[in-house]
Amino acid sequence: MNSSITQLQNLMQTQNLSAVFFTDSANVFYFSGFRGTGGDASLLVTPKCVYIFTDSRYTLQVAEQCPGCTLLGKSAQDIKALGVLLREIQAERVGFENLTVGYALWEKLQSDVHFVTWVGIDKMAVSIRNVKTDGEIQKIETACNLCVQALRETVPYIRPGVRENDLASELEYRMRKMGLEGTSFDTIVASGYRSALPHGIASSRVIESGDAVTIDFGGVYDGYASDMTRTFFMGEPSAELAQIYQAVLCAQQTALDQFNVGMTGAELDRIARDVLYAHGYGPYFVHALGHGVGIEVHEGVTVGRKSQDSLLPGMVFSIEPGVYVEGLGGVRIEDLVVVTETGLRVLTKDFEKTLAIL
Ligand code: ZN
Ligand code: ZN
Repeated sequence: MNSSITQLQNLMQTQNLSAVFFTDSANVFYFSGFRGTGGDASLLVTPKCVYIFTDSRYTLQVAEQCPGCTLLGKSAQDIKALGVLLREIQAERVGFENLTVGYALWEKLQSDVHFVTWVGIDKMAVSIRNVKTDGEIQKIETACNLCVQALRETVPYIRPGVRENDLASELEYRMRKMGLEGTSFDTIVASGYRSALPHGIASSRVIESGDAVTIDFGGVYDGYASDMTRTFFMGEPSAELAQIYQAVLCAQQTALDQFNVGMTGAELDRIARDVLYAHGYGPYFVHALGHGVGIEVHEGVTVGRKSQDSLLPGMVFSIEPGVYVEGLGGVRIEDLVVVTETGLRVLTKDFEKTLAIL
């Protein structure tokens, strides 16, 4: 039995749960090893066993990927088989993912498995997923390294006259060629006035000289995501954009330098935010400093103004200050970091951050 299952079983015991039922694909993957798109499998973890429910398309896959699991049922949502099993083990209180379970499934659970008390487990699974094992960190780091290489090879294509969409394609093509399974989210290429959009997914806009071009992207390696951002300039930037770049870089570097193990997300966010306020750009930093990354590109800890999450060894999150000025443009610099026993290790450090004029 792997340690994540043991941790879950310990939590189940403290909360007096007979079992926990998972349908969210990230949780199913984490606790079983099963790789599939959403809804292909569900999982029941009991104090002694892990049962996986899926259909016959995945019989071979389960044998290969989920050696510790017992295969049951005819489909991912074989609630009848789930009910039989829960009766067999005399389950009383059963946990479910109240934050993500859809209404149709919820109705089915309530009508067909009414003899147990369904208990929302909120963020129980992600609290375990938050602290990564060395093996998980290695996968995330590999995703980061391959992304750094892919971006480096794409730099020659970042130039005036190229559409944002084409640039995203060049980057994603290289990511695939290097062995990444895909992107961890829709690649952001935001140029010129669009660089003021914190989440400007690549469009048909043609990059012009004088533009800031923000590229925010990530890849998936062996089920684990990466996330990084760099902003490039098409020719000499205006004095104000250059100033913004230095302010954002300083905010990020100060957060990296002043991090202490165990500080809260809010404390780290404050460090970067204070630097941007000191430069006069505080009000233009409109999002959180960072977010946890793992199986999902946004998971677990938050590093924002109100985050009381303690940042502990094994946690992986982004540090991504940004300044967005409508009509002028924007700058964001994002690295992925892992907390060690003594501080931070930057997983995306191999792509330089000095102001890049292309
Ligand atoms: Zn990002
Ligand atoms: Zn991010």
